Amino acid sequence: MAVERGARIHAAGSLGTNKRDNMRILVTNDDGIHATGLKVAEAIAQQFSDDVWVVAPSEEQSGAGHSLTLTRPLRLRRHDDRRFSVSGTPTDSVMMGLLEVLDGPPDLILSGVNRGANLGEDVTYSGTVAAAMEGALAGVRSIALSQVYAREGAGDAVPFATAEAWGERAIRPLLDMPFAPGTLVNINFPAVPADAVKGIRVVAQGVRDYGRASMVKKRDPRGFPYYWLSFHGVVQTSGHDTDLEAVADGYVAVTPLHLDLTCRDVMTSLADRY
Ligand code: MN
Repeated sequence: MAVERGARIHAAGSLGTNKRDNMRILVTNDDGIHATGLKVAEAIAQQFSDDVWVVAPSEEQSGAGHSLTLTRPLRLRRHDDRRFSVSGTPTDSVMMGLLEVLDGPPDLILSGVNRGANLGEDVTYSGTVAAAMEGALAGVRSIALSQVYAREGAGDAVPFATAEAWGERAIRPLLDMPFAPGTLVNINFPAVPADAVKGIRVVAQGVRDYGRASMVKKRDPRGFPYYWLSFHGVVQTSGHDTDLEAVADGYVAVTPLHLDLTCRDVMTSLADRY
């Protein structure tokens, strides 16, 4: 695009920082360009590099999953030299970043920091995780970041300071290890103050019981029904070494994910059916 790109800023001359030469970071999210958590992710990214770009949805897209906008045009709005919003989904935003805004692939994509957990099967609904999936598909090292909050209905009181304090520690070890193709890393910060976090654990994706979801039915001012999904008293499965348990115990949960959803355990028995 006809955007004057800022010169890549070299950290070589800035002794005392841990920033890397020429490391370009693309930051996105699913809560939208104005979300507090996006600014937290930008602050985390700036601990690694001065070359941080933001391409995020113009409106909240929580629950958008890995959806694409195919039936209407997308609009790209420039807010600042390196901040853009897209009138679409998180996946649209990553594609816009990679295909239009940046003139080369970034070294890292950070998605978040989401307002709320992305644990267990949340990852299949999550626009935050899906943006990192899209990055993984494009061959870019991609990490999803989410800040758990303590109780239902507390979405306006999310302890983002915990993510901000622990983000650098959780991400830095991932920067010089190879990511296998089609893999990404999902990080959740626990709902405790930063100084109460017990540490970082690498854990598997857990399983929640969504049987207690409900469809809340109410009437609009004109008397017509409307419905709103509600999750209450979500029960997490017992079992150790899952992301659910780690954040409940006050740890930052780090979970490697892959896009290959094949259930290999069933391959043979299924093949026997044909
Ligand atoms: Mn969200």
